[in-house]
Amino acid sequence: MGTTTEADYPPTQRSRVKRLHDRARYDRETVHAILDAGLLCHVGYVIDGQPYVTPTAYWREGEQVYWHGSSASRMLRHLKGRPRVCFTVALMDGLVLARSGFHSSVNYRSVMAFGEAEVIEEADAKRAALEAMMERIVPGRWPTLKPPTLQELKATTVVSLALEEVVAKVRSGPPKDEPEDYALDVWAGVVPTSIVLGRPASDPDLKPGVVVPENLSRIRIG
Ligand SMILES: Cc1cc2nc3c(=O)[nH]c(=O)nc-3n(C[C@H](O)[C@H](O)[C@H](O)COP(=O)(O)OP(=O)(O)OC[C@H]3O[C@@H](n4cnc5c(N)ncnc54)[C@H](O)[C@@H]3O)c2cc1C
Repeated sequence: MGTTTEADYPPTQRSRVKRLHDRARYDRETVHAILDAGLLCHVGYVIDGQPYVTPTAYWREGEQVYWHGSSASRMLRHLKGRPRVCFTVALMDGLVLARSGFHSSVNYRSVMAFGEAEVIEEADAKRAALEAMMERIVPGRWPTLKPPTLQELKATTVVSLALEEVVAKVRSGPPKDEPEDYALDVWAGVVPTSIVLGRPASDPDLKPGVVVPENLSRIRIG
């Protein structure tokens, strides 16, 4: 992950990190690396004055992030109006156990982006986006699947958000205690956390003879 802080994404009044601003990253390399490591985002939007935050799967291509769902979804129907949204991704890397409760923390990599959501209407663009999603989840799986029908494409809404007003925030490393607290007889350190992929469990209705594909070993999350 990049340690540079060049402003590929110039901070705005909204996106500039103020609290612990040394943890902020405005460079493309860091933002892309975090987005490419995650699979779950939270999208915030307001309907009739009520804020909603919806957890959903996402993927990135170039300077766009995408998410998708049923065309009947309230969230996705609302996003057709090009509303402003707040998109976040957070990856937890460890429990930071300090010598005091106050300095105990969490190691993490996170991204927050603001902008107008845009619905992808055109069938070929939608198909390409869905292929990119599947390739993000399991590289090499899309060509092995039954292609989507026009009806399935119609029933699916794909939304994109341009990465323009975006910032990453990263905490890593050991606890940072008060100088006098290092003399205490209290264990301090980091308990790493990560997403662990389990052993694939075959569908009980799997056709006999179909084996677990090799490409499942290429899934990368976190
Ligand atoms: C890890 C993860 C990945 C997901 N990936 C996708 C995806 O790729 N595409 C997709 O369409 N959906 C996904 N979902 C489901 C998504 O969170 C929404 O439930 C879905 O998009 C329907 O949204 P809606 O606004 O139409 O729901 P509605 O049913 O209209 O929402 C009505 C109310 O139901 C409640 N509600 C809705 N969703 C949730 C929820 N997830 N948890 C708790 N309460 C809820 C809220 O109170 C909400 O106000 C995912 C959820 C999780 C947790």
